[in-house]
Amino acid sequence: MGEQCRLALEGGADLLHLDVMDGHFVPNLTMGPQLCADLRRALPEAFLDVHLMVTDPGMFVEAFAKAGASSISFHSEALDAPGAIELCARIRSLGVSPAIVVNPPTPVEQLEPVLEHVDMALVMSVNPGFGGQAFIEDSLRKTAWLRERVRPDQRIEMDGGISPETAPRAREAGCDVLVAGSAVFRQPQGRWSDLIRDLRGESDGVSK
Ligand code: ZN
Repeated sequence: MGEQCRLALEGGADLLHLDVMDGHFVPNLTMGPQLCADLRRALPEAFLDVHLMVTDPGMFVEAFAKAGASSISFHSEALDAPGAIELCARIRSLGVSPAIVVNPPTPVEQLEPVLEHVDMALVMSVNPGFGGQAFIEDSLRKTAWLRERVRPDQRIEMDGGISPETAPRAREAGCDVLVAGSAVFRQPQGRWSDLIRDLRGESDGVSK
């Protein structure tokens, strides 16, 4: 995994996005802090973007900060606004960048009271839990809503169903950070840098 991640970074990826699932907030189970720590050791310079799809994010922030997370995203569905604001402060006090996530069924307006406290807002463009799902169109409207409200130093990330077909629309709606899993890793390694350029909108189109 460290080797695959190193190749993705060499292919032009800006960061590594780690989907942490607890088997409760989402039905699947994935990685814990140990894997994050191992990646940090293998890739000391990488930006590790940890996405906590867990019921109780407060339980995990210290462990992931210690494991070398660069940013920690938690779900707006997991906490009320005062709880989310408090968790942002805790994450920041650990030297990590806080971010808040909104799931497809959740109104994006719910992020309003928390928005000024985060460095990034993450729009889920599929229902979280499994890779390889189809892109949900409403996430573009949510992104546009966020784009009107964030400061220049805040970023908007989109996660789920990102491919060379959906990426241009996500960028146009105002996304700065696109998370791609299947679109890159299901392709032969020799194509990764072309694909990453496509997702960024830097491709001349010939690689499709
Ligand atoms: Zn994610």
